[in-house]
Amino acid sequence: MASPYKRVLLKLSGEVFGGGKVGVDPDVVAALARQIAEVAATGVQIAIVVGGGNFFRGAELQLRGMERDRADYMGMLGTVMNCLALQDFLEKAGAEPRVQTAITMGQVAEPYIPQRAERHLVKGRIVIFGAGSGMPYFSTDTVAAQRALEIGAEVLLMGKQGTDGVYDSDPRTNPDARKFDDLSYDEYLARDLKVADATAISMARDYALPMVFFSLDTDGTIVRVIAGERIGTTVHT
Ligand code: UDP
Repeated sequence: MASPYKRVLLKLSGEVFGGGKVGVDPDVVAALARQIAEVAATGVQIAIVVGGGNFFRGAELQLRGMERDRADYMGMLGTVMNCLALQDFLEKAGAEPRVQTAITMGQVAEPYIPQRAERHLVKGRIVIFGAGSGMPYFSTDTVAAQRALEIGAEVLLMGKQGTDGVYDSDPRTNPDARKFDDLSYDEYLARDLKVADATAISMARDYALPMVFFSLDTDGTIVRVIAGERIGTTVHT
């Protein structure tokens, strides 16, 4: 498989790890890991930001009475469990993964050290970034944009569950919703679309980082999107 990319940042939504439930579904994670290992073996450098929506979302816990910042820390800790599950199945698939977390926890992962992450990538290792930004009030989508910029990824690949791209309205509630193949950052923001939060989109816009939104619901989409196949929706200048 010839990829147009040398280095990519793959964002995996937390929801997909749970296979629709709370927690981690090992079969789902194993299938994701096999795809990622397959592409890494071809020489594409892959860094990953993992979400945590299958455990906790700060905003949801806040609605149920928790302090937002503490709830956000729970959300960030949830992402780390996903990272460890992915690390495990990537190793089983023959890859060499390293986890780096934005909240230091030396027993389970390296701390976030961007230069070391780049060295791992150059050596063909897959770097998994966990614990979000380490700061409440952010999303892992925004962290994915920031990490992509910091490690010099050419593209931000946003793997989502439950949607195969960006639509002009919610396809779950509007059967006439129209999917975009292409969309500018400005149009995304003007339409107030919600597939990724506005902070992530505006950061990508400010640094002209292309984003591809695609579905993780079908096996093989990670391989296809990294091969440069036009699936999902591309958001760019
Ligand atoms: N979170 C945070 N700061 C960050 C990243 C994440 O506080 O930099 C928290 C936030 O509560 C969020 C949760 O971690 O709801 C899980 O991340 P996210 O919702 O982005 O995961 P995804 O939707 O991708 O599964």
